Amino acid sequence: MKKKILVCGAGGFIGSHLVSKLKKEGSWVRGVDLKYPEYSKSTADEFVIGDLRDQMVVKKVLDQPFDEVYQLAADMGGAGYIFTGEHDADVMHNSATINLNIVSYGQKVGIKKIFYSSSACIYPEYNQLDSDNPKCSEESAYPAAPDSEYGWEKLFSERMYLAYYRNYGLEVRIARFHNIFGPEGTWNGGKEKAPAAICRKVAEAASGVNLAEIWTPSGVRRVPSLEIWGDGKQTRSFLYIDECLEGISRLMNSNFTGPVNIGSEEKISINELAQMAAKIAGLQELMINHISGPLGVRGRNSDNRLIKKELDWAPSQKLELGMTETFNWIKQQMAELQKKEMAKQN
Ligand code: NAD
Repeated sequence: MKKKILVCGAGGFIGSHLVSKLKKEGSWVRGVDLKYPEYSKSTADEFVIGDLRDQMVVKKVLDQPFDEVYQLAADMGGAGYIFTGEHDADVMHNSATINLNIVSYGQKVGIKKIFYSSSACIYPEYNQLDSDNPKCSEESAYPAAPDSEYGWEKLFSERMYLAYYRNYGLEVRIARFHNIFGPEGTWNGGKEKAPAAICRKVAEAASGVNLAEIWTPSGVRRVPSLEIWGDGKQTRSFLYIDECLEGISRLMNSNFTGPVNIGSEEKISINELAQMAAKIAGLQELMINHISGPLGVRGRNSDNRLIKKELDWAPSQKLELGMTETFNWIKQQMAELQKKEMAKQN
C-alpha cells in the first residue's frame, strides 16, 4: 500500500525537495503552502494553496489519518529577516499559529506520525559567543536563551509537539536543522541565506559587476569584490539539501523522537566561505568589504554525537561539493533572469 503523506510548506526550499524525494520513493503526497515552489513544478499528487494559520484550511488538508505529516511551514528567512527585529511579531505569531493548528487537528484526525523542523537557532546565545568553540549539543538547549524570537518560537513548538507525544501518544520526530542550502533555495530578494547570498555576490563579482579599485605603484587595479556583514570571522556550518533529506528520512524511520541535530560538523568562517565560492568561480583574487549588518551568534556548529548514537549515521559530504552545485545553479538563474530582462527591454 502506498504511504499517504502531507507536506506542509511544500512550496518552500526543503519542502519542495522533500516532496520530490517522497514521490520518487512511491508515496502519495499532498502538499500545502501559501505558494507553489518558485523554481520548479511540484511533483505532489495534490497541491493545495492555503494559509495554515487558518483553521478551516488545516481542517481541509488534514482530512484523513495520514501515515506521515511533515511540518516545515514557517515564517522565516535569512539573517536579514530573522535578526533585524522588524519581523519578530509576524515570525512568532504566524509560525506558532501554524504549529498549534497542525498538531491539534493532526491529533484529532489520527495521523500516524509527524515530523517537525526545528532549528539550531534554539541554542542559547551564551554558548555561542566564541567562534572557535560553539556548544550545540542537544541537551545544552536549556536554560534557554535563543538570540532570536524565531528561535523562541521553535523551542515553544518543540515543547508543544513533545507534550502531544506525552499526553496523546502522537508519534513525533523533531530535528534541529543547521543552515540547509542547495539549488532551488532563495538566492535573491532579501530572504536568502549566507551560502546563496555569497554565491550570488561572487558570481556578480566574477562577471565584473562589483569591482574594487586598488591603487598600486604601477597604477589602479580592479579586483572583484563583495560585501559581507560583520568582520566575517563568525563561524557556521552548512548542510547540503540531499543530506538533510537523508537525515529526515532516517529519523522518521527510527524509533527516536528527538530533538536531534541535523547538520554538518564542517565549521567555516564567513570569510572562508566567500573564498571557497571565489575558488569555485575560478577567481584569482577577491576583495571582501566588511559592512555592518545583522549577524546572529558568533559561532555555531552542529554537534553530531547524538545522531550518530541514535541513528548510526551523520552527514559527511564536504561543503565544497554542495557549494559547487549551488554556485552553478545560481549562476544559471542569474543568466536566465538577465535574458528575461533583456527580452523585456526589446
Ligand atoms: P522556506 O521559507 O523555503 O519554506 C517555508 C514555507 O512555509 C514557505 O514556502 C512558505 O510559503 C510556507 N509558509 C509560511 N507561512 C505559511 C502559512 N501561513 N501557510 C502555509 N504555508 C506557509 O524555508 P525552508 O528553508 O524550506 O525551511 C523549512 C523549515 O525548516 C522551516 O520550518 C524552517 O524554519 C526550518 N529550518 C530551516 C533551516 C534552513 O537552513 N533552511 C534551518 C533551520 C530550520
